[in-house]
This record gives sequence, C-alpha cells and structure tokens, in this order.
Amino acid sequence: MKKPDQPLDTPVQFIKGVGPRLAAIFKARDILTVRDLLYFFPRKYEDRSKLSTIRTLTEGSPGSVQLVAKQKALRPLRGRPQKLFEVKAQDSEGQWISLKWFRIFKGFDLKFEPGTSFIATGTPKRFGSLLEIVHPEVQFNLDESLHVGRVIPIYTEIEGIPTKTLRKILDTALQEYLKFLPDDLPESLKRKHHLPNLREAIYTAHFPKEFSEFRSPAFVRLIYEEFFKFEYHVLSKKLQVQKEAATAFHRADLHESLKASLSKLPFTLTGGQKKATEEIFEDLSIPHPMNRLLQGDVGAGKTAVAFLSALAVMAQGHQVALMAPTEILAEQHFKNFIKIFGIENCAKLLVGKTGALERRQILALLEGGEPVLLIGTHALIEDDVQFKKLALVIIDEQHRFGVEQRKKLIQKAPQGLMPHTLIMTATPIPRTLALTAYGDLAFSIIRERPPGRKPILTKLVHQNESSKMYEFIRGKLKESQQVYFIYPLVNESEDENFKHLTSVITAAEDLANKIFPEFKVGILHGQLNPKEKADVMEKFRANEIQILVSTTVVEVGVDVPNATIMVIEHAERFGLSQLHQLRGRVGRGSQESFCFIRTNRPPFIPTPERLEVMCETDDGFKIAEADLELRGPGEFLGTRQSGALPFKMANLVRDQEWLILARNDAIELLKDDPQLERPENLSFRKYLQTTGKTERSHLRTS
Ligand code: ADP
Ligand code: MG
Repeated sequence: MKKPDQPLDTPVQFIKGVGPRLAAIFKARDILTVRDLLYFFPRKYEDRSKLSTIRTLTEGSPGSVQLVAKQKALRPLRGRPQKLFEVKAQDSEGQWISLKWFRIFKGFDLKFEPGTSFIATGTPKRFGSLLEIVHPEVQFNLDESLHVGRVIPIYTEIEGIPTKTLRKILDTALQEYLKFLPDDLPESLKRKHHLPNLREAIYTAHFPKEFSEFRSPAFVRLIYEEFFKFEYHVLSKKLQVQKEAATAFHRADLHESLKASLSKLPFTLTGGQKKATEEIFEDLSIPHPMNRLLQGDVGAGKTAVAFLSALAVMAQGHQVALMAPTEILAEQHFKNFIKIFGIENCAKLLVGKTGALERRQILALLEGGEPVLLIGTHALIEDDVQFKKLALVIIDEQHRFGVEQRKKLIQKAPQGLMPHTLIMTATPIPRTLALTAYGDLAFSIIRERPPGRKPILTKLVHQNESSKMYEFIRGKLKESQQVYFIYPLVNESEDENFKHLTSVITAAEDLANKIFPEFKVGILHGQLNPKEKADVMEKFRANEIQILVSTTVVEVGVDVPNATIMVIEHAERFGLSQLHQLRGRVGRGSQESFCFIRTNRPPFIPTPERLEVMCETDDGFKIAEADLELRGPGEFLGTRQSGALPFKMANLVRDQEWLILARNDAIELLKDDPQLERPENLSFRKYLQTTGKTERSHLRTS
C-alpha cells in the first residue's frame, strides 16, 4: 500500500498501533482513512475527572475508583465452557468491592497479584452485601491520563478492538494528523456564529476538557458544518434541476380547465387544497420542471389536487402518469377518477394483471400522443411503456418507492424535456426531514381536513375489555356502519408469514362464526392474488361485507367512508406513523369514528409511548414529530432511503435550530457568490472539488 499525497487519506493501517489486523476490523465499519477515523465521534462521554471512593460510588451510575487487589479467583461456571474471574479489592478507606469478568484474555488474571494498584471504572451494583462491577475497565499505569482523571469519550463498541485501544488510537491519530485538517467553512460564517476552528472542534469532540451534552462551541461547530454542507449540496442540486427544460403552460389555460373540472367535483376544495393547486399551477407555467412535495395528513384530500392538476395538463394536450404503490390503490384512483370526471377524460389503468390486448391498446394511445392520464403501479416503469407527450408525473405515497423507480418514470418524458413532478406523502413529514431528506423539493401543505370530519376517538382496549368492545361494535354494525380488524405482518419471512396468516384466518373465522355470526366477514392479505384482493375490496366498498379482517395491505390510501371503526391487534408491533396511517382509513365520512388499539402484553408491562401518543392526538403533523423523536431519522425514513442522511454529529431533533440557520446561510451563499469566487469562500470551493465530491456521491435525496 502506497502512502497518498494527502495525509488525511492515509489508510488507518499506518497509524501507530493499528496495523493490518485492526485495519481490517475498521474497514468493516467503513473507517478506511485517517479522516474517517477523526470523524468517528464518541457516542457519549463519561466524566472521570474525579475519582470516587467505594463509599461515594452510586449504584447504577458509572464511576472510577482507585483500588488495591487483595484476592483473586478463577472459577468454573456451571454448564458453561468459560470461567468466572473475580478480584476482591480495597480502596484507600479500606472498603471492599468485587470485580467480575465472564471472559478474559489469556494472562489477564496474572495482572492482579495481591498488592497491585489500579483504577477500575464501571457501573457498580449491589450483590449481597458487597458492591460489584462486572467487566470494569481497568487502568494499571496510574500515570497515564488518557483513560481516567478527565472526561472520557465512549465510542460505539467495535468488536475486536478494546475500548482503551480505540481511545489510544484516536489519541495518536489526533496528535499526528489533526494539523493536516483543512478548515472548509467560509470565514464569514464562522465569525457570524462564533464557531471555533475545525482542529480545535475535532479535538474537543474526542477529548473534551469539560463535560458537556453536545452543546459546547466545539460540538456546535461540527453540527453546523454537517448541516451547512448538506444543505448546500441539496440546494445546489435543486438549482441545477431548476435549469432543466420542461413544458410551460399558460396559467389562463390551466385555470380555464380547472373551472370545468371543479364543476364536476362533488365537493368544494378546502383552503389548503386550493392553495396547493395554485402553487402547482404556478410551477407548471414555468419552462423548468416542477419538483413539488404535496404533504397532508391522511384523508386531507391530496388525490383531488392531483386529479385537478392532471386534468389541467391533459386539457393542454399532454400526458400524465400517476403511480401508486399497490394495485388496490391504483384501481381505487382509477375508479374515483372515472366516477367523478367521466370516461371521456381518457384515464387508463395499467397494472400487472392488465390483459395483453388492453395493454397493447394503452401503449398505442401513449405512443400516439393522446392526452391520457395513465394510472398504475410499478407496471408504469416497464421499458416498453413509452409516452409521446408526458408532461406531468404524480407519485402517490412516495415513501413506498425507491429513488430509482421514481427516476425511471421521470425519464419517460420526451427527449430534452423533464416532466413536472408532484410527489405525495402518506402522512406529514417532520419539518427537519422536509428540509434535509426532501430539501431539494418545494412544498405544498394541506393542513386542514375536509369539513364535517369528526376526530377519531382512539382508545387502548385491554384484553379483559374485549366483550365490551365487541358489543360496542355490534351496535355500530347494526346502524349499518363497517369495521376493520387489522393484524400485523410480522416480517416477510415465509415461516412468519405463514404463522401470521394462520392467525389472521383463525381470527376471521372466530369473528365470522362466534362473535359476529349475523354479519359478513371478508379477509384481505398479501397472499391473495390481485383479483381476489380487488373482489374483497369491492364487496367491502359496497357494504356486502361489513367486517374486513386485514393485514397492513389495507394501510395504503384505501378510502371507504362508511367504515367507521378500526381495531388494531398487536399494536405494539407497529411504528407510530404506520399506526396513524392505518387509523386514517376511518374518519373519512361524516360519522363519528373509533380506533381501538389492542396489545396482548401482560398488564404489568408498560404501554409503549407511541401507543399513548396515538390516544392523545390524531394530528398527523404532531405524530410525525413524535415519531421522529422516538425512532430517529433512519427508521423514520425506512430502509429504502437510509443513507439519505449522513449526519454523524448532528441530530435532527436536538439540533433543529442549527439546521434552519445552516440552510439559510447556504441559500444566501448560493445567491451572493454562486461560483464561490470570493477569497474567503475559496476553502469551501476547494472542499466541494475534493472531499465534498466523494462525500456527495453517497448522498441520495428524494
Ligand atoms: P389522502 O390525502 O389521504 O390521499 P384522499 O385524497 O383519499 O386523502 O381523500 C380522502 C377523502 O376525502 C376522499 O373520500 C375524498 O373524496 C374526500 N375529500 C377530499 N377533498 C374533499 C373536500 N374538499 N370536501 C369533502 N370531501 C373531500
Ligand atoms: Mg392518498
């Protein structure tokens, strides 16, 4: 391996104390170079600046204490191959403590000859009459100040690298390489926010002088820098896309067709819907592609906005594609569209089960340039689906699609033109995520729900309240309302699927035969073929089935206003946003609606917080914020978009205010010095041309 020109790109292997074996372990953690290592930040800190005595140690909280070894023993553990190693030691006040290890490396026990002094750090607990620490960190060389007598960084454990070794390696790396680290941030921004220079910040992040909860100027500097670089990237990408060419429509023409469409709509638009439509029309009248995210809570009426936009574009002789994640949803959109606007408006449905003949006819229409609204699933992105005049792409429930799938659809616009894109979410997105993971999009937000909606009463129902709940439901069924029973899809493995399928089927049988024999029960789950699914949905919609037992297939956008009750079984297995999305299937009509949340946990296990959040609010915007806080962005965004947010130091919930500042600064810089020509911005330009280039190639946004 050759040493690179840029010292920070030196492979970690060349750091003193690393070598090929540890380098391989680091590599598995994506730590390849010195730079990666310097940016491998502690997970938390421990204040070891003061040594305790055994008397002042507190059970359950970490502490360090200087000890003298008195006795040691290596004893076999019953029924296990490994041995228990125990050291009994005394502090300067003559108090005793027991230290235990269940696994030690060879020769470790020899270090504790009676009389040996050392410092032990760990979290003590009481065992019988004695305090004990299991697997304490031990420091024999009392002069060495790296691991004790100061605030100590605690890194995410890397298997095969002992904590102390890791700390030592970082210390060495900082000593040797910190001086090579360039400071990329424009001077003016550092001055503006009183931020320390990068070297000081990085050093302090690893070895802070004082205990602080990620709020010292050093941390703030690193947090701000991550946000600033990310926002600069996202916003410059946005500016770039805005330069592409797209079909521009006359606003007067768009409004002309809107007037005609509105007269067919069976309701008047809410303020939010009107505003969103206006914003979309504004974008459509510009010769550059729209990239707009339409946010709204479940049931806010996003579909109507999508339809009106589609009709306006079709009226100008162009084609529109609307992609939905499931056949049920695509079909529902198609039927709704036809029902409201009639067949003459030329909507077509293309899904997996579309017959060969019909498919060929549809493809011919598209290639002929007919102004069609093509509604469908992933079937839309197949290679032979070619549009002649695709001008608007609408993606419903965008979180269910990957970046690649969306891209494929967008590429179906005519040569040299980008289509306008409208992306719709299932539930609201927290503001911080909107500014990061979706930071390159423009937003329209529908805050209010259509008039006449009553809040959905949500209640935790305990197992011993089942019969009361069934009686309540019976009453509503007698008033000819309908009910969903939802069961979780535990995971996608076949075994689990099978087990859970049986449980759904058994539950459905019980409901049909024992509990509600006077009503019709239908089942919906992923193992049914599309036709079976559609049949069940159709019957439920027509109230030929009153009780729908379903897995989460029903989650997505299904709209049956007469269904007023939802029972969610094993609710503890769902995430908060998913629960909220499920609940959004009820409360779509003018009747009062109910959501009963059930867990089959024993009563002594506390209810998960998210279930309580569900009972407290049905405001999707609040739910989204709570969910982000409970789960963090990776989980919230789902696996498909993980990797979209590369923050190592910054925390979207904790550091919101800095995100906003960084974003505004990035906007300003892009405006004031777009080419980064001013001397004080040269360091940042250099970053963009070097390190930033590789960093940004990993970033994937919406
Ligand atoms: P989502 O935003 O969750 O996709 P939908 O578009 O499915 O919501 O709309 C939910 C329901 O509300 C549908 O039955 C729709 O017809 C109805 N709806 C939409 N807008 C209005 C409105 N302005 N007034 C009354 N009902 C509306
Ligand atoms: Mg929808």
